[in-house]
Amino acid sequence: MNGATPWRAERTLREDMCRIGRLIYERGLVAATDGNLSVRLDDERILCTPSGLCKGSIEPSDLVVVDFDLNLLEGDRPASSEILMHLGAYQSRPDVRAVVHAHPPTAVAFSIAGQSDALAGAHLPEVVYTLGAIPTARYATPGTADVPASLEPYWGRCDAIILDRHGSITVGATLWEAYLKLDKVEHAAQVTFMAALLGTPRPLPAEEVEKLARQGAERGYPTACSPCATDGVCELPAPEDGNGLSQELEEAIVEEVLRAVREMTAEKEEQKAGSTVVEAG
Ligand code: 13P
Ligand code: ZN
Repeated sequence: MNGATPWRAERTLREDMCRIGRLIYERGLVAATDGNLSVRLDDERILCTPSGLCKGSIEPSDLVVVDFDLNLLEGDRPASSEILMHLGAYQSRPDVRAVVHAHPPTAVAFSIAGQSDALAGAHLPEVVYTLGAIPTARYATPGTADVPASLEPYWGRCDAIILDRHGSITVGATLWEAYLKLDKVEHAAQVTFMAALLGTPRPLPAEEVEKLARQGAERGYPTACSPCATDGVCELPAPEDGNGLSQELEEAIVEEVLRAVREMTAEKEEQKAGSTVVEAG
């Protein structure tokens, strides 16, 4: 994401937000009045969806403008009940210009079933390459300041986070970028779910994860550390400007990802050896 991108015209942003609201509703990534979207208009102002409306039928004139002190600058309705989560994302990540919060059903089901590690891990090359990992933040009551607090540990390294039992947050330089990351999260969840129905999902080999993580880091994509890629809290420091990685940090990240994959592979092999012994006996 590039913080130097020129600000886009407000009218275009309003139209994009409504188009994406319709898409997430029609695609079942939210139901009823779920979900919310926001985008930075400039350094001080945020355009966001109002609270309690169906995002499948919002109009550009329904949208509201707020500032970082929660003042309603434009619009007739209250801002989204999750405005603190959106502001938290912008404050933690100066490179972020847009935020999409949705309730993607398969991804959320992984958290309810206690299977967040299976979703976070390194199964799909495109996810390792572009998202690094899809970690799940601890449960926080929707609409409270506890939601941004629960996400805080992950912003250093992640553009897509699952909110336990609730939904997802994806961020980007544009609304479309944040939407496409949501698309990827739910798709990864569906593939992982189907793989789990067919057998035991196999993580990518460590060398391949290393290659993908390096390629992704070179192109400015986030690269997960091993606690992110499993179930914990991100332990790596965020890059100072939220963009790019120092060589040292990149190597530390790749090492962490490799360690996680080695652990997962060793565990699977132990399980396989155990079941062979049982079958032989
Ligand atoms: P709002 O309609 O207030 O944005 O709330 C929807 C939601 O998903 C709350 O988590
Ligand atoms: Zn929600």
